[in-house]
Amino acid sequence: MGCGVVGATIAYELSKVPDLEITVVDAQPTPVQADLQECPTATGAALGVLMGAISKKEKGRNLRMRLFGIQYYNDVVPELEALTGRSIPFNREGILMLQFSDDLEVWKRLIEVRRKQDLTLEIWDQDRLQSEFPFLDRATAAIYSPCDRQINPVALTQALIEGAKLRGVNFQFGTKVLGRQGNQLQTSQGILESDYLVISAGVGTSGIETSINIRPVLGQAIQVRLAKPLGDRPFPVITGDDVHLVSIGNSEYWIGATVEFPTEAGEVLPPDRAMFDQVMRQAIEFCPSLKDAEPIRTWFGLRPRPQGRPAPIIEELEPNVLLATGHYRNGVLLAPATAAHVRAKILQIDLAEL
Ligand SMILES: Cc1cc2nc3c(=O)[nH]c(=O)nc-3n(C[C@H](O)[C@H](O)[C@H](O)COP(=O)(O)OP(=O)(O)OC[C@H]3O[C@@H](n4cnc5c(N)ncnc54)[C@H](O)[C@@H]3O)c2cc1C
Repeated sequence: MGCGVVGATIAYELSKVPDLEITVVDAQPTPVQADLQECPTATGAALGVLMGAISKKEKGRNLRMRLFGIQYYNDVVPELEALTGRSIPFNREGILMLQFSDDLEVWKRLIEVRRKQDLTLEIWDQDRLQSEFPFLDRATAAIYSPCDRQINPVALTQALIEGAKLRGVNFQFGTKVLGRQGNQLQTSQGILESDYLVISAGVGTSGIETSINIRPVLGQAIQVRLAKPLGDRPFPVITGDDVHLVSIGNSEYWIGATVEFPTEAGEVLPPDRAMFDQVMRQAIEFCPSLKDAEPIRTWFGLRPRPQGRPAPIIEELEPNVLLATGHYRNGVLLAPATAAHVRAKILQIDLAEL
């Protein structure tokens, strides 16, 4: 149930298991699209920034899941492109995190930790930053993570769906789940029975499972075009004060995203113009050329955030009913490890190392 990046990755991975018969249902009339303002999903709005080594998590399950995700995309993007003939924009230039103070002690410590984990992080001083990316301003230093990535979430999810279809998975779009009794789903198109049910419905999860409280956290982002490109070669995702600048080619860039919480009652408020302007101001501060950028499109999506517990939720709700939801700000990054966990649960394999 649910075919955002999480459901699509699960379907694709399970399609590799012989003798499973898989059906995916989703309320949306078509596979995920970039512009669904009417009924926004998370995946259609995501920037696809994959923060592994550069995340502040020193160790533990969340870090392992992040690193697994990056390795998965390194391997699976070429596999999926060959299988489907589709192109999946995948930025392998790494992530550059700008610093605006001289205190780099936390980073020096993390660099040591990462070195022991065989992962590279570098500190760039202002001279290096200026010589590599002269279009940047204000930052006094930066942390460069060459092994982190960025992927186009919509192209990825569509390719996963296509790949799973080619391997025999049945997709039923335009099918809204209205209720559940055990493994039986009541949908807008009738009853659906299964031996195993996986619920990967993002913010839609709580509508079916009232015991699972997932709150929508709105994020706005924008695509802009410049008269000429910022640089003459591909460059990493540049991030400053939690604002990402993602180069998507043809002098076009994504900038985002806001983080807008719902009301106490969980009600989503309309996108906040002031918060969006603040994100743009921050981006222009570290990359002044963006002040002349032409807006191409703006959008928003709803991140599924588990209330009062860490993201994501991957667990058995009852026998043969699995939850794979609540990925909040990192669902693209964590979808591959989620799919590995679901696959292991269904096949009853021990996945202790993840
Ligand atoms: C602006 C923004 C930027 C982001 N940037 C990043 C990023 O850089 N990196 C990153 O890793 N993550 C990012 N995220 C987070 C990421 O988008 C989410 O964590 C991820 O997409 C969650 O995927 P999902 O498949 O669980 O949910 P969704 O994409 O929301 O998919 C859930 C699906 O379930 C379906 N559904 C729901 N209810 C029902 C029902 N009753 N019946 C049938 N179908 C149903 C919906 O139609 C939908 O297609 C960002 C999110 C936003 C909003």
